[in-house]
Amino acid sequence: MANIILIGYRGTGKSVVAKELGKKLHRNIISTDTIFIEKYGDISKFVNNNGWEEFRKLEEEIINKIKCRDTIIDCGGGVIESKTNINKLKQLGDVFWLKASVDVIVSRIQDCQNRPALTSNNDFITEIKTVLKKRNPLYSIASDIEIITDNKSIKEIVKEISNFINKTKICIPIVETNVHSAKEEILKVNEVADIIELRLDYIEDIDVLKFKQILESVKIPVIVTCRIKEQGGTVDIDDSVRKQIFNCALENKCEYIDIEYGTKWAKEFIGKSEDTKVILSFHNFSETPNLLELNKIYDMINAQNPDIVKFITTANSINDNFEIFRLLENKNNLISFCMNQKGEISRILAPKYGSLITYSSLNTGKVSAPGQVNIEEMLELYNIQNINTKTNIFGIIGEFAENSKSKYMHNPAFDENQLNACFIPFKISSVDDLDKFMNNFKSHNFKGAAVTIPYKIDIIKHLNIIDNTAKRIGAVNTIISTEGVFYGYNTDYIGAITAIQTVADLFLKKVLVLGAGGAARAIIYGLILEKSEITIANRTFKTAQKLADEFHVNAIKMDNINEKLSQFDIIINTTSVGMYPNIDKSIINTFPPNKIVMDIVYKPLMTKFLKNAKKANCTIITGEKMLIYQAIAQQKIWTGKEPDYEIMEQAIVNPTHFQ
Ligand code: NAP
Repeated sequence: MANIILIGYRGTGKSVVAKELGKKLHRNIISTDTIFIEKYGDISKFVNNNGWEEFRKLEEEIINKIKCRDTIIDCGGGVIESKTNINKLKQLGDVFWLKASVDVIVSRIQDCQNRPALTSNNDFITEIKTVLKKRNPLYSIASDIEIITDNKSIKEIVKEISNFINKTKICIPIVETNVHSAKEEILKVNEVADIIELRLDYIEDIDVLKFKQILESVKIPVIVTCRIKEQGGTVDIDDSVRKQIFNCALENKCEYIDIEYGTKWAKEFIGKSEDTKVILSFHNFSETPNLLELNKIYDMINAQNPDIVKFITTANSINDNFEIFRLLENKNNLISFCMNQKGEISRILAPKYGSLITYSSLNTGKVSAPGQVNIEEMLELYNIQNINTKTNIFGIIGEFAENSKSKYMHNPAFDENQLNACFIPFKISSVDDLDKFMNNFKSHNFKGAAVTIPYKIDIIKHLNIIDNTAKRIGAVNTIISTEGVFYGYNTDYIGAITAIQTVADLFLKKVLVLGAGGAARAIIYGLILEKSEITIANRTFKTAQKLADEFHVNAIKMDNINEKLSQFDIIINTTSVGMYPNIDKSIINTFPPNKIVMDIVYKPLMTKFLKNAKKANCTIITGEKMLIYQAIAQQKIWTGKEPDYEIMEQAIVNPTHFQ
């Protein structure tokens, strides 16, 4: 679990809130001031002798060394004066800014003698006002959640913070068919999830005895579910058995039982136990209704007074997820997301929009509902434990976005730069879908996106400013929103040119571009900037000629292409020939020796085209280099920072991502 970090001015109650939170949540507490005192003695004396600058330097060292989880970190009031501290704290967990008005601060700290002055020549109240004026914008940048403490008891503040903390739990359902294998799976889930769901309808001939045996292995909070067939259950379990199991769950103080909405006897369990919460659930397996309808159904379920409402729908379009995000607004007893591949983003972004639980699976391929993302991806790739209301959302817009490797590059790059950002696939099936999606993208303040086939042109009408390069290429592969203005760029050409330049200079080089599609356009644009002499060859000569005319370069026919190769220094394949699954195909079979040969196909990394080139002792450039360099350029646009090539490469050449 992520740490809880408390920041704020002196007298906003950080230390006492930390203590009470620690008790309530059973978490350890560390205080940066206490660590300082243990190392360097009394802070007032230290500041008098050495000054604030030296204090801040050492404080930064202390914060930089913090390595803990599940802990409450009580920070000194001025930690936010260092940008390094802000970045580090954001990386460590959820940052809460405890705020108080000047009057309240004065009343709380005026009697305390042991606080060194922060400014010179100021009276007590002027000092507070002066320092707050400077620090408030920094507290705002540093924090994920702001808590106003005026007129609130410590208990109330602690409750408010607890409501935010890990609001979204990750639950893994057990979908085994017998007690033995269920117990084995539970042992694995105990280690990685917040909650286990026992889908007892999967167990053959389930009864109370079997339930008890399974329950013995559970070491974390548990949801007991006997799903009925109409709501996705596997077998019909007799009502009397279901009731016996739920009663047994209550006797054993199981944390949750899940009963389907509409079950006549559900009310017998609602409010019956202080230890066991009742989830009243409803699944729509065909669609996601509109918001009005969703709210009506939520109200109907909620009217039964369950502890938690679970309302799951099916996404037929990426835009259905946004209906669920709207449904979640201002509700604190709701589990809601969409099933299906197209609903994946509602599962990943559950912590941003406040679904109490999101469901994941072990890496075994066994899922209890379509669209479940496995736990490794949830934790390692999407960093779901760090997603919160302030997380900036990026993604890839494409018809087959789910197959894109870009998430493996961009998420580690955000991590490396300690940014509160997440990169997810936006699977968009039509131009109409794209139009609606861009409205949602804007209204939900998503930050940026990569754009891929087939929307690099269609995206343009949704943007306010297109940079000149993208205009000239006629396609946008990168968008960013800056203060509500949407910009479009093209980084494909940078990727290709940078990749070639790792082995050769392009100035006045004779370059043969095989193919005349979208990627060829971007590459030709880049080659022109580098003053190469360009020739295009394409299966459909007319297309090559058209492109050549537009960019004032040469076009040749593909006939007898092998015989024409020796006149070129560099040969680039921009066609999709040789791409998985057609890995035995190559557009060129025999190369002349010692040429520079690049293939932009990256699946597989070593294409037949490159293997043939290698046989002729050519210098080869694999397709993932273009992909990585264009992604690095995207990161620069989105974050202003350039990630390490190695970090991106490591993610993309991981063989498991290329199966
Ligand atoms: P595109 O616009 O559809 O163009 C495809 C090109 O391939 C056309 O010139 C087409 O010729 C040619 N082609 C297709 N099948 C062929 C065949 N059997 N024989 C001969 N030529 C054939 O696609 P694109 O966006 O340019 O992408 C092309 C490839 O580059 C894809 O494999 C894509 O994954 C890859 N790519 C890689 C990167 C990277 O970063 N490494 C970036 C972008 C694209 P016709 O005009 O005759 O149809």
